[in-house]
Amino acid sequence: MKVRFCGVRGSTPAPGAEFVRVGGHTSCIALAHRAEDWTLALDAGTGIRRITNRLEGRAFAGSLLLTHLHWDHVQGLPFFSAGDRDDARVRVYMPEQSGPDGRTHEPADVLARAMSPPHFPIGPDGLRGDWTFESIKPGSRRLEDFDVVAFEVPHKGGRTFGYRISDGHASIAYIPDHLPDAASTPAIARECDGVDLLVHDSQFLEPERTVADLYGHATVDDAIDLAARCGARRLALFHHAPARSDDDIDAIARGAIDQGAGKGVEVFVAREEWLIDFGTSG
Ligand SMILES: [Zn+2]
Ligand SMILES: [Zn+2]
Repeated sequence: MKVRFCGVRGSTPAPGAEFVRVGGHTSCIALAHRAEDWTLALDAGTGIRRITNRLEGRAFAGSLLLTHLHWDHVQGLPFFSAGDRDDARVRVYMPEQSGPDGRTHEPADVLARAMSPPHFPIGPDGLRGDWTFESIKPGSRRLEDFDVVAFEVPHKGGRTFGYRISDGHASIAYIPDHLPDAASTPAIARECDGVDLLVHDSQFLEPERTVADLYGHATVDDAIDLAARCGARRLALFHHAPARSDDDIDAIARGAIDQGAGKGVEVFVAREEWLIDFGTSG
């Protein structure tokens, strides 16, 4: 399995000279079994445009798993050129959404609330190629020759899933947005048990705890605690606050690396274009 970080910011993109080393695109990760054969995308933040670059002129043929529908996880969708062409095949999966009456909403309709006129020139049905939109519940499924487990994650303002993905050789857990609470943490730690890599919400720091709670996010300490609890080999600090400069994030990394080492976790800062190659399952 190969894991490519295509966008590592939370909330809103962060362009500018002070963000170039970490990168400014919002959340998106690409997975492949073989070099540059990116068939599974996690979230469709603005970083999804990097998958188009990586495919070097080829159309995307694969699946796109959304953790939730917040802007920083879907706004790249209409700009995903490798998926928006006649020869593309894109299977979109998102957490099932229901209204106050308990009725389940059509996934394309949910997306269309943010992506349709007058907010945007086209709706999801205006994307070229073979697109399908499917609501999913927590549980296991096989997508693009990966084993995928979806599980509930507390966040704010919309149902949110985390995903565990394995190719039978290596496994990662992806939890970009997470407001940890005592009730759900044991179950989430079980879902992430022994993963090779945990990619986790690290938007805030302990002194910002009040804001983290208000916005539905985790702190760096929360991420390290979860990684230690589930026995993750490595932790990627992810979903960086848009105002954090490269220097700010370097400073956060220095403290977090030591803190993680004390708990047996190897901590990294997720940076755009970072590639982790776990090798092949065969
Ligand atoms: Zn987010
Ligand atoms: Zn969110």
